[in-house]
Amino acid sequence: MKSKLKFETRAIKSTQSGSTNVKPLSTPIYLSSTFERNEDGSYDNDFQYSRADNPNRRILENSIAQLENGESCFAFSSGMAAISAILQSLKTGDHVILPDDVYYNIYSLTTDVFERWGLQTTTVDMSDLEQVKQAIKENTKMIWAETPSNPQLKITDIQELSSITKAHKLTLVVDNTWPSPVLQNPLDIGADIVMHSTTKYFGGHSDVLGGCVVLKENNKLAERIHSIQKNMGAVPSPFDCWLIARGIQTLHLRVTAQTKTALALAEYLEEHPKIDQVLYPGLESHPQHHIAAKQMKNGFGAMLSVIVKGDQQNAVDVSNRLEHFTAATSLGAVESLVEHRKSVEGPDSKTPNNLLRVSVGLENIDDLINDWRQCLK
Ligand code: PLP
Repeated sequence: MKSKLKFETRAIKSTQSGSTNVKPLSTPIYLSSTFERNEDGSYDNDFQYSRADNPNRRILENSIAQLENGESCFAFSSGMAAISAILQSLKTGDHVILPDDVYYNIYSLTTDVFERWGLQTTTVDMSDLEQVKQAIKENTKMIWAETPSNPQLKITDIQELSSITKAHKLTLVVDNTWPSPVLQNPLDIGADIVMHSTTKYFGGHSDVLGGCVVLKENNKLAERIHSIQKNMGAVPSPFDCWLIARGIQTLHLRVTAQTKTALALAEYLEEHPKIDQVLYPGLESHPQHHIAAKQMKNGFGAMLSVIVKGDQQNAVDVSNRLEHFTAATSLGAVESLVEHRKSVEGPDSKTPNNLLRVSVGLENIDDLINDWRQCLK
């Protein structure tokens, strides 16, 4: 096909999507940062500029809103960007109550960044709702829960907590990263907002970063989060959205299989003489097992923390001897990981010295148990 156009022009025109009538099963990736207007300046649909909206992001957001039974969802470039957007919806002088073992980057985000903007925070043991009630002040606007918590797997009763937040007209946010919507739907039991690091179970393959904020209602708060998403611009790329959406297609299978293996590993380790304690809400020995059983479904998750007998060095040595658990930060993907959390969290960390956090992957349970057996010999 001979064209009159010069090379540079042809290079542009020939790679534009144009008028193909292919019907792919896998969603195409709309990398375009911008979309063409009609002659009168209007658009045929909602897509104008990809920071504001993009087809791959729209698909991802609609999917997660459905899975969490929310009315709206906003996707971000990481879990921390999603968390920042939620905190940015507050104003100077507002007060937030956080769990005392909240994911440690949330703690550093509030102390290093948001404190300078006048946001006040208090941390409490959120498995004890009396402590929550006592921490409420006149300027308290939000309660942040993480259940199971990272890394001590404490459980908060979401329904009970929501009676407190409703009575005081506070926003209840639940970080649902660890259970994923396969195991827990906080919006169904009283939460106003659910957030996820989609880097973890949603992506599921350790190859993408992402976050999202899901709101129960399409209300003023949703408008504010939407405005922060658009104006601050910490949005995921179309390819990142595509990867996370692809992960969603196998989310249920992965999470239920990983959860089954995690329970079997937790039961094995709990009986082992060299292990002091296994923190896993699926074990009857867990102090809030009954609450987890009430508010979780399909199992108790694929994360556990193992308190090894002895000191910090003992725990580090155990993690170094494991062959099928890679020493790496992160969780929720197909491969099993182990991490000595205190070393990662730093000197302010309240995590026990001899705690190893374990993310159980999709390997065969016999291989994983044999690995712990050999390393604890
Ligand atoms: N929330 C929890 C519970 C997490 O475990 C993490 C990361 O490990 C985050 C939030 C932050 O997510 P991201 O690393 O995608 O920014």
